[in-house]
Amino acid sequence: KVRVRFAPSPTGHLHIGGLRTAFFNYLFAKKHGGDFILRIEDTDRARFVEDAQDKIYEALQFYDLKPDEGPREGGSFGPYEQSKRLEFYQGAVDQLIDSGHAYRCFCPEHRLDLLRKSAEKRGEIPKYDRKCANLTKSEGLRMAESGEKFVIRFKLDKQNVQFHDEVFGSVNQCVDESDPVLLKSDGYPTYHLANVVDDRRMQISHVIRGMEWLSSTGKHHILYKAFNWTPPKFIHLSLIMRTATKKLSKRDKDAFVDYYSEKLGALPEAVLNLMIRNGAGIRDFDQDHFYSLEEMIERFDVGLLGRRNLLLDSDSLQKYSRMAFQSADFETLYPRILRLLNGKFEVPDKEYLTSGEFSWFFARPKSSQLLHDLNLENLDACLSDLLELEIFNSETLGQFAQQHQMPLAKAQGIVRISLIGSKKGPPISELVEFFGMDECRKRIETMIR
Ligand code: GLU
Repeated sequence: KVRVRFAPSPTGHLHIGGLRTAFFNYLFAKKHGGDFILRIEDTDRARFVEDAQDKIYEALQFYDLKPDEGPREGGSFGPYEQSKRLEFYQGAVDQLIDSGHAYRCFCPEHRLDLLRKSAEKRGEIPKYDRKCANLTKSEGLRMAESGEKFVIRFKLDKQNVQFHDEVFGSVNQCVDESDPVLLKSDGYPTYHLANVVDDRRMQISHVIRGMEWLSSTGKHHILYKAFNWTPPKFIHLSLIMRTATKKLSKRDKDAFVDYYSEKLGALPEAVLNLMIRNGAGIRDFDQDHFYSLEEMIERFDVGLLGRRNLLLDSDSLQKYSRMAFQSADFETLYPRILRLLNGKFEVPDKEYLTSGEFSWFFARPKSSQLLHDLNLENLDACLSDLLELEIFNSETLGQFAQQHQMPLAKAQGIVRISLIGSKKGPPISELVEFFGMDECRKRIETMIR
């Protein structure tokens, strides 16, 4: 079964790259009838931000990417916050110590500092000198039991790793990093351990994540091998860039998801449409088509994911925003309008607006019953003739009325009903001024059967 996860660290605002990762995991899961899991990777307590998880949930809700399992949803592979899974990491390192792949390291901070400094002086990358790797298991155990502080290190010899990535193909990496820490002295795991252990325990079938994690994947494969576990499949997503050569900076306001929903007032699907550009896995992708989430799921194909970077370009975003607003209904627009007005104006509540006298303001009238009640023989012909008019005013409508042998008031009635779904309302000239002729024509078109 396909099981994928979005595994953000709650360290602040959600980066647009994080949203893209969540989105592609979601598409892949839904495409294959699988599960989309939210796992909070909160083991870096120094960078932990209290309300970051709320922000992540808000974003997932806004973009309609509902997790099947997660901290709030629950599920049978929980808990879904790593800080609540410490016993699993402990069990995993015990296994590695038993099999000789890991050891306790008692070196104090000042010794490690010295090693670091002298390596830097020589212009080398600092590496742990493996002093504690020489302790026997029983020595290590005895020191631990006597209360000495220690970390668990992974025995990692310099080696070449080869693995397959669904996007990047066959990848060769030389892993040369002496004995990284798996478990810190406070019992918290580091990223690599927690990530691998949880992907295994949560039965993740495919790891879909940003390309910045590709360089860790070699190490992850070595860990899987040490555990004697089969690794999941890996799918790394290309970078999100400002231009072909310029990276997105963390200082750019549009690098974070809040910007799109709050500042820009963009509709969620506009942003999602932007993300499937540049060869991002959609069958027969058409730049000028506005895709609904359902369509994206249906057309998603991992095999089509390209390595080209995604450019965050504001022209395309504007184009999709426009398309999104045009295809949105009132239900979708109302909360957006509220947000945009941001409390500057009092907006009547939704029920009042849609059922009240002024619903036409927001929504095109749907029913043409009132028009049919006029009992015109050639209603559709009348409507198409109206579409031909440059503008609606007493002169043009007068001519139209004459041509169709009806009183002016009746012609005005047809127009008003088509525009606002009611016989009563503002004068035609005001409606024309308010809507513009383009919108007027659209409203008349929807009345033609
Ligand atoms: N916690 C990592 C992050 O913040 C997860 C990376 C991964 O998906 O393996 O992106």
